[in-house]
Amino acid sequence: MSSRKKDYYEILGVSRDASQEEIKRAFRRLAKKYHPDLNKDNPKEAEEKFKEISEAYEVLSDPEKRAAYDRYGHEAVDFGPGGFDWSKFTRFSDIEDIFGDFFRDFGFDFGFGRGSLFEDFIRWRERERGEAARKGADVYCEVEISLEEAARGVERDIEVLKEEVCDVCGGSGAAPGGLRTCPTCGGTGQLRREQHYGFSHFISITQCPNCRGSGNIVERRCDVCGGSGRRERRKRIRIHIPAGVMDGMHLKIAGEGAAGTSGGPPGDLFVVVKVREDPHFKRIGDDLICEVPVRFAQLALGDEIRVRTIDGDHVHVKIPPGTDPDSVIRVKRKGMPSIKNPRHRGDMLVKLKMRVPKKLSRRQKELLRAFDSEEQQHH
Ligand SMILES: [Zn+2]
Ligand SMILES: [Zn+2]
Repeated sequence: MSSRKKDYYEILGVSRDASQEEIKRAFRRLAKKYHPDLNKDNPKEAEEKFKEISEAYEVLSDPEKRAAYDRYGHEAVDFGPGGFDWSKFTRFSDIEDIFGDFFRDFGFDFGFGRGSLFEDFIRWRERERGEAARKGADVYCEVEISLEEAARGVERDIEVLKEEVCDVCGGSGAAPGGLRTCPTCGGTGQLRREQHYGFSHFISITQCPNCRGSGNIVERRCDVCGGSGRRERRKRIRIHIPAGVMDGMHLKIAGEGAAGTSGGPPGDLFVVVKVREDPHFKRIGDDLICEVPVRFAQLALGDEIRVRTIDGDHVHVKIPPGTDPDSVIRVKRKGMPSIKNPRHRGDMLVKLKMRVPKKLSRRQKELLRAFDSEEQQHH
């Protein structure tokens, strides 16, 4: 892109060793020549040209920027992807200065009317700066699901309050026929203030505070939106929560946030997924740990037990003879699906919790004593 850009010195028609005074003179001459106001035949082309010379002047009138440009070219004074930006034009005091002369030269003699070049320039600057379309606000909501739902993935219909442009008044906030031209600014949406300092004459143009720049006053408000021009509407949105989702994860649903302003895009909807605690399973990464009560005899003699999985079915788990209490038996691929890799699945970890009976019958006590004395003789 920079290779196609014209040389700043060439644009201003000055040599590379031109003095600041020469640069300023060149700019002054070209500004007068190319201002869109004086090029009624081809204002679009003149506007481009005027922007071009302003950009060149912005760089070459600043000794630091000029030095950087001399050494490294356009790359050094890159104005960003949008190109040269009026709102960042820092040589504005020079423009005022130049145009002060300019009006004298053209015989306006400080009395410039509406549509004058200086006023145009400020208005143009304000417009470029002010009317940027803004993205709507992001909206957040929370959805609670069970661990089983997290394991298989689930669809949920959620209702969000969505701020949209009022369809009755089209965003104006006025009832039909309830709009009046703003008396403060006469419908322009802007106020101009003129100030005289000796021989200098300044005009500043600001947004009209009465109508906030719209140029209209709402006399009767829209019944539907109450004058805000915006409506909150309930909207049903179906969201797909993927299998393996973790507690606290955010799902972004693009474009379902609040409406933008001045034609800007809507914001996004963020769904925060809350996974309820499960009474049976605890999640550790993609593995699920559960505790299963077993008897001493099952651990000592070995057994096969049925254990419920997160999928709702059962698996048979073998307890080898002589298993210690609190041992963990790993059941492959019966844990949570991985959110990162749908083909991967965690394991189920079955922790064997030995239950010691609190109440024993007489016969049970006799048997246990007999068992215990035999144990003592063995060891
Ligand atoms: Zn309305
Ligand atoms: Zn107004």
